[in-house]
Amino acid sequence: MSNGNGSHFDKATDCRFGPGSMAMVAQRVAGHHSKVARPTQFPWFCRTEWAVLLCVFYPLLAIAPLVILAALDPDNRHPTATGLGINCALVGFTLLSIQFVLTARLQWIEAPFGLDLLLRFHRSMALVIVALLCVHPLLIAGGESWTLLTRLHTRWHIWAGRVALILLGAQVTAAVLRGAMRLSYEKWRRAHAAVALVVLAAGFVHGLMAGDDLNDAGARTVLAAVPAIALAVWIYTRAIRPRLLARRAFRVSSVRFESSRACTLTLSAPDGRPFHFSPGQFQFLRLLNSAVPAQEHPFTIASSPERTDRISLTIKDCGDFTRVIDKIRVGDMATVHGPFGRFSYDLHPDEGDLVFVAGGVGITPFMSMLRAMRDRGESRYVTLIYASRAMDDILFAAELAAMEVGQWPALKVIFVLSTPPAWWTGETGRVDGNRLGEWCRGLDDKVFYLCCPSRMTVELIRQLRQKRVNPRRIHCDYFSL
Ligand SMILES: Cc1cc2nc3c(=O)[nH]c(=O)nc-3n(C[C@H](O)[C@H](O)[C@H](O)COP(=O)(O)OP(=O)(O)OC[C@H]3O[C@@H](n4cnc5c(N)ncnc54)[C@H](O)[C@@H]3O)c2cc1C
Repeated sequence: MSNGNGSHFDKATDCRFGPGSMAMVAQRVAGHHSKVARPTQFPWFCRTEWAVLLCVFYPLLAIAPLVILAALDPDNRHPTATGLGINCALVGFTLLSIQFVLTARLQWIEAPFGLDLLLRFHRSMALVIVALLCVHPLLIAGGESWTLLTRLHTRWHIWAGRVALILLGAQVTAAVLRGAMRLSYEKWRRAHAAVALVVLAAGFVHGLMAGDDLNDAGARTVLAAVPAIALAVWIYTRAIRPRLLARRAFRVSSVRFESSRACTLTLSAPDGRPFHFSPGQFQFLRLLNSAVPAQEHPFTIASSPERTDRISLTIKDCGDFTRVIDKIRVGDMATVHGPFGRFSYDLHPDEGDLVFVAGGVGITPFMSMLRAMRDRGESRYVTLIYASRAMDDILFAAELAAMEVGQWPALKVIFVLSTPPAWWTGETGRVDGNRLGEWCRGLDDKVFYLCCPSRMTVELIRQLRQKRVNPRRIHCDYFSL
């Protein structure tokens, strides 16, 4: 099953996006749906081989400082428990430094996996790091003296290590309990980045001062190189990249209300620079010098990838930032960082009939995919199940109706309302596996793309799996990272 922005759990598949990838699409009709011939030139970092290399490289990188330090000091004098404790700290600290790289939204690392999968991996590794760094003092105390854990009057660098560990624990706890603690995402994210840097610095100082076998300049250089890379990435992502993106800022060329709670922003690069993406991908938007806060938020690109001169984002108000989007004006400037994500039919050119299930504003990736099929002249069979609460929540109704009667794609739209008006004769209630089967005339050989509220997605996946739909035929985008 592929998950959140379309990344596969079970394998890193090949990637089908990149500059020029859309322009060269040719159509070949086989049976009732088109096979699309795609260009063979993709950025090197989209290749499966690169994904495999990254997966192999990660554990090697994690133990590299350990191996180098062992090679520099072959006559290790530490007792077994102490030596093991030091090794745990070294690997934990290296993994901690790599965490900065994983979260830096570097496209050459994100592309083969999808950002959501990468961030999930980052969260899992945080638990591994905490475990390794907690085992470190326990093993050393076990090998030397248990008072190392309890003594208050001790050297300052021991306290640096303790502070790093306490802050790391607090960091992980806050990340896990953010929702339950009702922490504002923006405040949490700022604190997370700042505390991460303090943990890195305190951990480094502790390691440098407490490591009595680090007298050698080579060993110290190895230990310093690890956080130096993390620090460089931190500075790049927080200080350099925002400035580079601001220099290439996009201009808001139109603001259109789709409903009382959703509006579409169209953005274009003032110098006409093209923006290439695959349909279904998203980007991070930050308004500059606008009446809305200059926060970065992820939004799906809803427009067709065939129009590279502009992108459109349809945003629904559901929080403190999205509530003020009506303050955005034509002429406002914004940075666009992306594209990211793997929730795209472009990545799976051999799939058959498609079933798109959209809930609310989850229609946006499907609009991009349907618009792409229309503009490319792809005659695929697509059933769109579009669940909304009320009539006013249905977006793009006229455009979808036009696509239904148009030639490309072969589209059938089923609107489902949970609170319909009295005159509504269409579908109502909840979408479930049985009804999906009825609407698409069977589940066999269909491929499902889900972008709905998370509870609905989880429930649909469970029901589709019960009906023996292969997980490889289910892709989902949760709209959360
Ligand atoms: C891949 C992806 C695609 C999305 N596409 C669309 C779209 O096309 N249209 C649309 O209306 N919404 C989309 N969203 C959701 C949108 O990003 C959130 O609704 C918005 O960020 C909420 O911000 P807020 O301050 O208004 O609400 P808040 O109440 O502050 O946040 C609500 C929740 O949104 C998430 N969130 C908030 N800020 C961020 C951030 N900077 N980065 C990541 N997550 C954040 C957090 O989980 C938070 O708990 C998408 C989200 C993702 C992850």
